[in-house]
Amino acid sequence: MNVLSLLGRNLTQGPYTEPFPFGPAPTAKRFRGRVTFDAATCEGCKICERVCPAGAIRFSKAKDGLAFAVWHNSCVFCGNCEFHCPTGSVHQTTDWHLAHEQARKYAMVEFGLIPNQTCSECGATALATAPSLRGIAPPLSAEEAVTLKSLCPKCRARFLKARRAKP
Ligand code: SF4
Ligand code: SF4
Repeated sequence: MNVLSLLGRNLTQGPYTEPFPFGPAPTAKRFRGRVTFDAATCEGCKICERVCPAGAIRFSKAKDGLAFAVWHNSCVFCGNCEFHCPTGSVHQTTDWHLAHEQARKYAMVEFGLIPNQTCSECGATALATAPSLRGIAPPLSAEEAVTLKSLCPKCRARFLKARRAKP
Protein backbone atom coordinates (compact mmCIF):
# COMPACT_ATOMS: atom_id res chain seq x y z
CA MET A 1 0.00 0.00 0.00
CA ASN A 2 1.50 3.34 -0.99
CA VAL A 3 1.61 6.37 1.28
CA LEU A 4 -1.29 8.15 -0.40
CA SER A 5 -3.64 5.20 -0.10
CA LEU A 6 -2.53 4.74 3.52
CA LEU A 7 -3.31 8.39 4.23
CA GLY A 8 -6.65 8.03 2.45
CA ARG A 9 -7.54 4.96 4.49
CA ASN A 10 -6.56 6.65 7.75
CA LEU A 11 -8.67 9.67 6.86
CA THR A 12 -11.73 7.56 6.09
CA GLN A 13 -11.34 4.73 8.64
CA GLY A 14 -9.24 6.28 11.36
CA PRO A 15 -5.80 5.14 12.62
CA TYR A 16 -5.05 1.67 14.01
CA THR A 17 -3.68 3.01 17.28
CA GLU A 18 -5.84 3.42 20.39
CA PRO A 19 -6.17 6.81 22.09
CA PHE A 20 -4.78 5.51 25.42
CA PRO A 21 -4.34 7.13 27.96
CA PHE A 22 -7.00 9.57 26.70
CA GLY A 23 -9.50 6.82 25.88
CA PRO A 24 -10.09 3.10 26.34
CA ALA A 25 -7.56 0.59 25.02
CA PRO A 26 -9.22 -2.77 24.30
CA THR A 27 -7.16 -5.79 25.31
CA ALA A 28 -6.99 -9.00 23.31
CA LYS A 29 -8.72 -11.94 25.04
CA ARG A 30 -5.55 -14.04 25.09
CA PHE A 31 -3.24 -11.22 26.18
CA ARG A 32 -0.70 -12.48 28.74
CA GLY A 33 -0.54 -9.98 31.57
CA ARG A 34 -0.38 -9.81 35.36
CA VAL A 35 -0.07 -13.20 37.09
CA THR A 36 -2.44 -14.03 39.95
CA PHE A 37 -2.27 -16.80 42.54
CA ASP A 38 -5.02 -18.69 44.38
CA ALA A 39 -3.67 -20.22 47.60
CA ALA A 40 -6.93 -22.12 48.27
CA THR A 41 -6.51 -24.39 45.23
CA CYS A 42 -2.69 -24.66 45.23
CA GLU A 43 -1.19 -28.11 45.86
CA GLY A 44 2.20 -26.68 46.81
CA CYS A 45 4.01 -28.74 44.15
CA LYS A 46 6.24 -25.73 43.21
CA ILE A 47 6.24 -26.69 39.53
CA CYS A 48 5.50 -23.05 38.69
CA GLU A 49 8.67 -21.94 40.48
CA ARG A 50 10.77 -24.56 38.66
CA VAL A 51 9.48 -23.76 35.17
CA CYS A 52 9.65 -19.97 35.47
CA PRO A 53 12.52 -18.93 33.14
CA ALA A 54 12.86 -15.52 34.77
CA GLY A 55 13.03 -16.63 38.38
CA ALA A 56 10.03 -14.40 39.04
CA ILE A 57 8.19 -16.94 41.22
CA ARG A 58 9.48 -17.60 44.70
CA PHE A 59 8.18 -19.87 47.45
CA SER A 60 9.63 -19.28 50.91
CA LYS A 61 8.99 -20.60 54.38
CA ALA A 62 6.99 -18.17 56.51
CA LYS A 63 6.02 -18.23 60.18
CA ASP A 64 2.43 -19.08 59.29
CA GLY A 65 2.96 -21.35 56.28
CA LEU A 66 4.40 -21.26 52.78
CA ALA A 67 4.63 -17.84 51.16
CA PHE A 68 4.32 -17.33 47.42
CA ALA A 69 5.40 -14.31 45.39
CA VAL A 70 5.45 -13.35 41.70
CA TRP A 71 7.69 -10.39 40.97
CA HIS A 72 6.16 -8.60 38.04
CA ASN A 73 9.30 -6.56 37.43
CA SER A 74 11.12 -9.86 36.61
CA CYS A 75 8.25 -11.72 34.90
CA VAL A 76 8.55 -11.98 31.11
CA PHE A 77 4.88 -12.99 30.74
CA CYS A 78 5.71 -16.23 28.95
CA GLY A 79 2.78 -18.17 30.44
CA ASN A 80 4.90 -21.19 31.45
CA CYS A 81 3.64 -21.14 35.06
CA GLU A 82 -0.03 -21.25 34.06
CA PHE A 83 0.60 -23.86 31.37
CA HIS A 84 2.28 -26.28 33.79
CA CYS A 85 0.20 -25.64 36.93
CA PRO A 86 -1.95 -28.76 37.47
CA THR A 87 -4.70 -26.86 39.29
CA GLY A 88 -4.97 -23.50 37.53
CA SER A 89 -3.87 -21.77 40.74
CA VAL A 90 -1.50 -19.48 38.86
CA HIS A 91 -3.30 -17.60 36.16
CA GLN A 92 -2.31 -14.88 33.72
CA THR A 93 -4.88 -12.14 33.50
CA THR A 94 -5.21 -9.64 30.67
CA ASP A 95 -4.21 -6.80 33.01
CA TRP A 96 -1.25 -4.93 31.51
CA HIS A 97 -1.31 -1.89 33.81
CA LEU A 98 2.09 -2.63 35.29
CA ALA A 99 4.07 0.53 34.59
CA HIS A 100 5.11 1.98 37.94
CA GLU A 101 7.49 4.27 39.74
CA GLN A 102 10.48 2.67 41.45
CA ALA A 103 9.01 3.58 44.83
CA ARG A 104 5.96 1.40 44.07
CA LYS A 105 7.89 -1.70 43.01
CA TYR A 106 6.63 -3.73 45.98
CA ALA A 107 3.04 -3.05 44.91
CA MET A 108 3.82 -4.90 41.66
CA VAL A 109 4.23 -8.22 43.48
CA GLU A 110 1.49 -10.82 43.79
CA PHE A 111 1.72 -12.35 47.26
CA GLY A 112 -0.07 -15.38 48.65
CA LEU A 113 0.17 -17.68 51.63
CA ILE A 114 -0.64 -21.37 52.00
CA PRO A 115 -1.31 -21.38 55.74
CA ASN A 116 -0.33 -23.99 58.29
CA GLN A 117 -3.12 -26.09 59.73
CA THR A 118 -3.48 -28.66 62.48
CA CYS A 119 -4.25 -32.11 61.07
CA SER A 120 -7.77 -33.06 62.09
CA GLU A 121 -6.65 -36.69 62.57
CA CYS A 122 -3.23 -36.70 64.27
CA GLY A 123 -2.85 -33.07 65.36
CA ALA A 124 0.42 -32.52 63.46
CA THR A 125 1.11 -29.12 61.92
CA ALA A 126 1.10 -29.25 58.12
CA LEU A 127 0.47 -26.96 55.17
CA ALA A 128 -3.18 -26.55 54.21
CA THR A 129 -2.44 -27.32 50.58
CA ALA A 130 -5.22 -28.48 48.29
CA PRO A 131 -4.98 -32.29 48.00
CA SER A 132 -4.20 -33.70 44.58
CA LEU A 133 -7.42 -35.31 43.32
CA ARG A 134 -6.05 -36.64 40.03
CA GLY A 135 -6.43 -40.36 39.57
CA ILE A 136 -8.76 -40.79 42.55
CA ALA A 137 -11.61 -43.09 41.57
CA PRO A 138 -14.43 -43.01 42.25
CA PRO A 139 -14.31 -39.20 42.66
CA LEU A 140 -14.48 -37.91 46.24
CA SER A 141 -17.77 -36.69 47.64
CA ALA A 142 -17.86 -33.06 48.82
CA GLU A 143 -17.67 -34.28 52.42
CA GLU A 144 -14.64 -36.51 51.70
CA ALA A 145 -12.89 -33.65 49.91
CA VAL A 146 -13.28 -31.41 52.98
CA THR A 147 -11.98 -34.18 55.25
CA LEU A 148 -9.00 -34.87 52.97
CA LYS A 149 -8.05 -31.18 52.90
CA SER A 150 -8.04 -31.03 56.71
CA LEU A 151 -5.42 -33.83 56.99
CA CYS A 152 -1.61 -33.81 56.95
CA PRO A 153 0.12 -35.66 54.04
CA LYS A 154 0.58 -38.91 56.05
CA CYS A 155 -3.05 -38.99 57.17
CA ARG A 156 -4.17 -38.14 53.62
CA ALA A 157 -2.27 -41.17 52.33
CA ARG A 158 -3.84 -43.36 55.06
CA PHE A 159 -7.31 -41.97 54.29
CA LEU A 160 -6.97 -42.74 50.56
CA LYS A 161 -5.51 -46.19 51.24
CA ALA A 162 -8.42 -47.07 53.53
CA ARG A 163 -10.84 -45.76 50.91
CA ARG A 164 -9.27 -47.93 48.19
CA ALA A 165 -9.51 -50.98 50.45
CA LYS A 166 -13.27 -50.53 50.89
CA PRO A 167 -15.27 -53.10 48.92
S1 SF4 B 1 0.48 -22.67 41.83
FE1 SF4 B 1 0.16 -24.59 40.69
S2 SF4 B 1 2.22 -25.17 39.98
FE2 SF4 B 1 2.48 -23.62 41.60
S3 SF4 B 1 2.75 -24.81 43.47
FE3 SF4 B 1 0.56 -24.34 43.30
S4 SF4 B 1 -0.35 -26.10 42.25
FE4 SF4 B 1 1.87 -26.22 41.94
S1 SF4 C 1 4.59 -15.79 33.13
FE1 SF4 C 1 6.59 -16.78 32.76
S2 SF4 C 1 8.09 -15.34 33.62
FE2 SF4 C 1 6.08 -14.74 34.45
S3 SF4 C 1 5.94 -15.80 36.41
FE3 SF4 C 1 4.97 -17.14 34.88
S4 SF4 C 1 6.62 -18.52 34.19
FE4 SF4 C 1 7.59 -16.78 35.25
